Amino acid sequence: MTVKVRAPGRVNIIGEHTDYNDGFVLPFAIDRYVEVEVGPSKKFVLTSKLYNQTVEVEKNQRRGTWTDYVMGVVWALEQAGYRVEPFEMQIDSTLPTGSGLSSSAALEVASAVAIVKMMNHKIEPKDLVQVCVKAEREFVGVRCGVMDQFTAVFAKKDHAILLDTMTMDYEYVPLNLNNYEFVLIDSNVKHELASSEYNKRRTECEAILKALNKRSFREITEKDLAALGLTLRKRARHVLSENERVLKTVNALKEGRLLLAGCFLYESHASLRDLYEVSCDEVDFIVGFLKGRAGVLGARIVGGGFGGSVLALLRKGYTEFSFEELDMEYRKFFNRSIKVLRVNSSDGVLFSHLISSEFESAT
Ligand code: ADP
Ligand code: MG
Repeated sequence: MTVKVRAPGRVNIIGEHTDYNDGFVLPFAIDRYVEVEVGPSKKFVLTSKLYNQTVEVEKNQRRGTWTDYVMGVVWALEQAGYRVEPFEMQIDSTLPTGSGLSSSAALEVASAVAIVKMMNHKIEPKDLVQVCVKAEREFVGVRCGVMDQFTAVFAKKDHAILLDTMTMDYEYVPLNLNNYEFVLIDSNVKHELASSEYNKRRTECEAILKALNKRSFREITEKDLAALGLTLRKRARHVLSENERVLKTVNALKEGRLLLAGCFLYESHASLRDLYEVSCDEVDFIVGFLKGRAGVLGARIVGGGFGGSVLALLRKGYTEFSFEELDMEYRKFFNRSIKVLRVNSSDGVLFSHLISSEFESAT
């Protein structure tokens, strides 16, 4: 018996650099997936079509490559008390890796669900999320938040999820985009600084809590900020205002006020650029190009920063510019191209019927 499961990538509408600060995020799953097919075998044999590799791996063996994401899930499942027997796995994907669309979480979640099904275990969705987070944090060794794995599991088509990363409370927010769509514009740059600056921001946020003697960012108010030096004050101001913007965006979406939601995207970008200081010239150029043009409601940098993509809310079928035009201008300044990806919302594994019929008939 083989089991096939696919899990989606995600886009976070707003709530950047809030997930590791006990804040709010507003992701939705996208119609790009990692799909795995798993069947019992004598040994662990993993194949990635993307990397055109088939690898035999031992249990608990870290190789420092893509196999760690799958074997990390095996390890975390066993840590949580779910026995795992050897399997063969084929990985297929329509989700670009390393583009901030969270292919790593999609791979973990698809693997975990497929393995659990193959072994005939039962697992609660929240535990599934924790297993995948633990795999990435402790086996792969990436200091990730919970948003990505949570979204790959809990997302619902035509909805975003308002997630409180402090309590893990969540609420589905209908995404009625009507004639508008979210588009990702990849700047095709990732500056060297990205990971060191990311770690620096995390350290700065810890320093803010310490300086103000607070356990959580949620206990901090605007009044407290005066006690901080300039840099920390700017960082804290971003986190506080970004949390507010997430909640205001949720209200705007509920009221069908897309124009207002778009304004919050622009505000988020300005805050990430000027207060959190994680943008760069290439990304600012793209946002600047879009701003003020007919058919554009809003745009902001997404992901860790120092490159990566811009998320834009655009009118379907009509904007006062073409992507060719943007690409040409961008090339002129930066001597490289943009890449455009239109995304639609999708279900997470919990609500999708994306498990192979072979499996359904076997249960
Ligand atoms: P992101 O999650 O934003 O895509 P990460 O660096 O967190 O970026 O995760 C990307 C990693 O996930 C890849 O380097 C690879 O190790 C693993 N991965 C993603 N998709 C696949 C795939 N189809 N096959 C094998 N490994 C994959
Ligand atoms: Mg990732």
